[in-house]
Amino acid sequence: MQATETMAGPEHYLSELVRAGLLIPVGVDGLYGRSGDFEDVIEAFNNVITRLGRDDGAEVMRFPPGLNRLHFEQSEYLKSFPQLAGTVHSFMGGECEHHELLRQLAEGEDWTGEQKPTDIVITPAACYPIYPVLAARGALPSGGKLVDVYSYCFRHEPSKDPARMQLFRMREHVRIGSPEEVVAFRETWLERGRMLATELGVPFEVDVANDPFFGRAGRMLAANQRDQNLKFELLIPITSKERPTACMSFNYHQDHFGEIWHMQTAAGTVAHTACVGFGMERVALALFRHHGFDLKAWPESVRKLLWG
Ligand code: ATP
Ligand code: ZN
Ligand code: MG
Repeated sequence: MQATETMAGPEHYLSELVRAGLLIPVGVDGLYGRSGDFEDVIEAFNNVITRLGRDDGAEVMRFPPGLNRLHFEQSEYLKSFPQLAGTVHSFMGGECEHHELLRQLAEGEDWTGEQKPTDIVITPAACYPIYPVLAARGALPSGGKLVDVYSYCFRHEPSKDPARMQLFRMREHVRIGSPEEVVAFRETWLERGRMLATELGVPFEVDVANDPFFGRAGRMLAANQRDQNLKFELLIPITSKERPTACMSFNYHQDHFGEIWHMQTAAGTVAHTACVGFGMERVALALFRHHGFDLKAWPESVRKLLWG
């Protein structure tokens, strides 16, 4: 597994990870258990992020990986990414429907007809729950607001690429304030991201990017996002040198969320927002790729950064 020269491709890396016991397959592409070592790396990296942002004064908020369906509808996620969303459905029938359900199950038929939408949608990105919560508090304090979130997220993008999971963790810092405040925040984290990747001893590049907006109208949104430099990614080769993987994202949403939820700055203007998102599994996978599967054999400097 001599990383960088012989990047053997997504499926091969997945089988290596499974053989080493780092990922535990359950029969669905993109849904895995994680080993103790894998979790140690995630936890240590998470602590590094915490230390990096310690003096920033972020408010810590932790939500389970579920969104209020109403907030999800308001967010316009379905306009841009209907293909990725995961909704939670439950059986809401009576005894009659239950009998029918059991019959369908027994006969191998589709049993999901009586599954009706609940009020919960699985969180697609860690920052989604916070905007309506902040908006409900009234205008922002002067200087705006900084929030620290961490959540499992769901995206329906099944893949044999271990770096493209359906359920994965995203740690984010989110800045809400004037355009100047949020752009400055993004610059700070871009610099921190570069520093972090350097200290972690992995090759990387930073590039403009776009989100996979759905459909024909989506292509225009994507082009616009690039033209305006609204999204940057820090990319690390994990399964391909030519197509490195986005491990950190730096997103400027302009007034998108501010408009939707009427978030106001102290000065009475529509709040702008930006977030930095760390793909926790992707960072771990990048470290395993470049430093090997044996944590004890990782470079001393990397071990020191992660575990002190
Ligand atoms: P990609 O272009 O690879 O699909 P993305 O642009 O969709 O990534 P974001 O929406 O910016 O990613 O999400 C923030 C971070 O979450 C990404 O930088 C990445 O590290 C991580 N991430 C996104 N999608 C996945 C996934 N399917 N599996 C694991 N991590 C992911
Ligand atoms: Zn975000
Ligand atoms: Mg994506």
